[in-house]
Amino acid sequence: MAASSDSCTERMERLGFRKWYERELLSGHAHLVLCILSVVALMASMESFRDGPSVRLENVLFIVVSGAIGLWALRRFIFLTVRAEAIATQAVCAECGEYGRFSVVAQNPGRNETEVCCRKCAHHWFINTQGS
Ligand SMILES: [Zn+2]
Repeated sequence: MAASSDSCTERMERLGFRKWYERELLSGHAHLVLCILSVVALMASMESFRDGPSVRLENVLFIVVSGAIGLWALRRFIFLTVRAEAIATQAVCAECGEYGRFSVVAQNPGRNETEVCCRKCAHHWFINTQGS
């Protein structure tokens, strides 16, 4: 989890908050699309059981793989969107009210904190990059 939040801060620093936020939401929703496609594949492979009593190994394998990919994609969608929203709620400058315009000053990966500085008024505050 710590490595994930490190790269989260580095990407935020490199892209800027607004672009980072946009990409996190796009990535999250791409995982949601993958989850939906996995459910469709899962349902399509279950159709093969209607043909007869004989269960073929490749059909069972396909169902297991589709289910695993779908669950992974759903977890990733939830993680990415919840973290992006949690960080976005902390992206407002308390001094001037500017949203999402800050520079990363310092990282504290051990505490999952990132010190940021408002680009408008230079106010400093901390963002919890674990998303809580
Ligand atoms: Zn400010």
